Amino acid sequence: MIYPNDNSILGRILIVDDCLDNLNFLAEMLKSYGYLTIKAENAEIARIKTESEHPDLILLDIVMPGMDGYEFCKTLKYNPNNSDIPIIFMSALDELFDKIKAFKVGGVDYIPKPFQVEEVVARVENQLALKHQKIQLTQEIERRQHVEEILCESRGLLASVLNSSPDGIAAFKAVRDQTGKIASFRCVVANPRVAQLISQPPNSLVGQRVLKSMIDQLDNTLFEQLVRVVETGETLNQEFYFDIHHTQHWYQITAVKNGEGFAVTIRDVSERKEWEMLLNQTSQNLYQQAISDSLTNIGNRRAFDHYLEQEWHRAKREKLVLSLILADVDYFKDYNDHYGHQAGDECLRQIAQAIHDAVKRPGDFVARYGGEEFAVILPNTDIEGAKLVAELIHSQIHQLQLSHAQSTVCPYITLSLGVSACVPQPEDSFKMLIARADGALYQAKEQGRDRIVEG
Ligand SMILES: [Mg+2]
Repeated sequence: MIYPNDNSILGRILIVDDCLDNLNFLAEMLKSYGYLTIKAENAEIARIKTESEHPDLILLDIVMPGMDGYEFCKTLKYNPNNSDIPIIFMSALDELFDKIKAFKVGGVDYIPKPFQVEEVVARVENQLALKHQKIQLTQEIERRQHVEEILCESRGLLASVLNSSPDGIAAFKAVRDQTGKIASFRCVVANPRVAQLISQPPNSLVGQRVLKSMIDQLDNTLFEQLVRVVETGETLNQEFYFDIHHTQHWYQITAVKNGEGFAVTIRDVSERKEWEMLLNQTSQNLYQQAISDSLTNIGNRRAFDHYLEQEWHRAKREKLVLSLILADVDYFKDYNDHYGHQAGDECLRQIAQAIHDAVKRPGDFVARYGGEEFAVILPNTDIEGAKLVAELIHSQIHQLQLSHAQSTVCPYITLSLGVSACVPQPEDSFKMLIARADGALYQAKEQGRDRIVEG
């Protein structure tokens, strides 16, 4: 029904009758029942008012001068704008009324004259209710058609996304045992990529149960992690290394809880992973190069500075003793002059190896401090412990028996060593530890070389 201006109006009724008494009676009567009434004395006026007033229902007299009721009804029904307006014919008992014709031309009901008020109102109400229901039904059908179109469209879109995705996309539903524990998962949906990833024919997965033992073959933690997704709602986002039919790949798996199961995306990240590993290896190599002495392969001066500072702060914080040994090859310039630089380099390599072998604990650190100078940092080691290490180094170098014809203290290569130790105090600097070891080394040289002096 159309209620353009006033919601309290029950409906707009156009009454068409050449008998003014009838016209006025019906108009007043229907008005008193809450209808808005429009009057027309003949078909021509009725046509104009239909166009301008858009009635919800028409009460139409049959016998009228000019165009009669049947003809008017027929012309009205030809016009699609008006064809839905229900028309109730009105006929007097003494008039010849053709019911069949009335329904054929589009009438929906008829009211005999003289009018019974209740009957008129009942028939009007009935037709308006039917019209109202028809409108509602039409709207509902249109709404459902629209929803179906959207669903159809989104199903198509979803299928196209799933089919063209380079990632595996699937959804699984948990299958529980009698105790309520998740025993397996049933595949609800899986795109072709998932089947391809596990070397299965397309569309072979939907409806299949995936058992714990099958998932364990890929990764023995994965099943429990997927159970946790369903039980706790926590998202799983992790990289896994799978060996499927002798093909090894890295996969990024993201599983999100979805009702009584989970939705999962599986992305092959092998290429990225290979680059990452290569980058890590390269970084590791570069780092090693940056902290190693290229000749002797032990720590270089930069690594020594960094490590000593770090251990100094640790010792200060934890009030621990820290020791340092500085060692210098005796008469090394003469060795180089006599045997040549290549022999000199080989000699340094062997000394470095011997010192490295003499220093046993993982926290101890050996570095090439300068040309023919070496340093050993000994965390949590007192002066007595440091002297023992220095003695071991000293004797190992002796045991190498590297000939040194130019040495005035021994026919073989020897070392002079300075040892210092301290528990760093808040105001101290690690340079103090170096200065004391250096001073002791100087003393060892002064006292005749090939010896250990404590600073
Ligand atoms: Mg008449």
